[in-house]
Amino acid sequence: MEGPARKIVVLGTGGTIAGTAPDAGDHVGYRAAQLGVAALVAAAAGGTWLPSWQLETEQVAQIDSADLTHAVWQLLVRRAAAHLARDDVGALVVAHGTDTLEETAYLLHRVLAPAKPLVLTAAMRPATALQADGPQNLNDALTVAAESGARGVLAVIGGQVFAGAELRKQHPYRLDAFGAGDAGALGAVEQGTLRRWREWPSGAPLGPQVVEREVRSWPRVEIVTSHAGSDGRIVDALLAQGVDGLVVAGVGNGHVHTALQAALARARARGVAVALTTRCTQGVVVGATDDAGALTPVQARVELLLRLLAAPPEPG
Ligand code: ASP
Repeated sequence: MEGPARKIVVLGTGGTIAGTAPDAGDHVGYRAAQLGVAALVAAAAGGTWLPSWQLETEQVAQIDSADLTHAVWQLLVRRAAAHLARDDVGALVVAHGTDTLEETAYLLHRVLAPAKPLVLTAAMRPATALQADGPQNLNDALTVAAESGARGVLAVIGGQVFAGAELRKQHPYRLDAFGAGDAGALGAVEQGTLRRWREWPSGAPLGPQVVEREVRSWPRVEIVTSHAGSDGRIVDALLAQGVDGLVVAGVGNGHVHTALQAALARARARGVAVALTTRCTQGVVVGATDDAGALTPVQARVELLLRLLAAPPEPG
């Protein structure tokens, strides 16, 4: 006799996928995070085409992901880790807003890098749109979650499958708003079937305990951009307020305005961790001395935040 059906847990966090607008033609004037995750699953046919899987839902948050907080991240990591540890759970799907999806995807990859699939999905149009993309994206995410051998943090949107750590939002409006820089997609979902041309993502996870510190005492990590007219005063203002880490979105191959460089030297001298990346939308900082050079500025911010969280507390 077959064992009990394995479960896919769908976690809701809000976003446009759960958004509604009074007018079906309105793709921008809607309110995000209005529908519960159970309604999203119902709109995606409840996963009925996956007969050997049962779906379970949990509302972890209900926010526009533009307002994402560290507290929501901490809760999401806790709930995801708890479900991934369950024997009866084979996969997780997380419905999220698109605006900060690449940050959450990177965080979950670095913290959990699970042996089971953790599939993020989202939508560019609210649930009330004439041609809402959310139900299909959720269907595709469930298809990938149920795929035999699937593993790691993934993002499924617009018919494409990305490694979570490589995800980049690169368009504010189009349905295919996401990419993965030079790495490209990992696969595609076509008519409910996954076609995959790259390996599933893997990595050495830091473990959920890394985000367990009281959120109010998390290090402060800010992003500063090098640009024409940079003068470094923003860094001095941050030093005056108190800052623990700075990500620099340099121009081109990680170049930084001389005046900003001088301010960053002052920051380093005060013990502030500085990571250099590029404001270019594609590519990596060639010859970079740390891993940040291969990340987008917002992902480099997550990396630096996690590095500081993982560091042993200062004595005294
Ligand atoms: N502001 C929305 C959010 O990130 C946008 C979206 O989901 O597409 O929650």
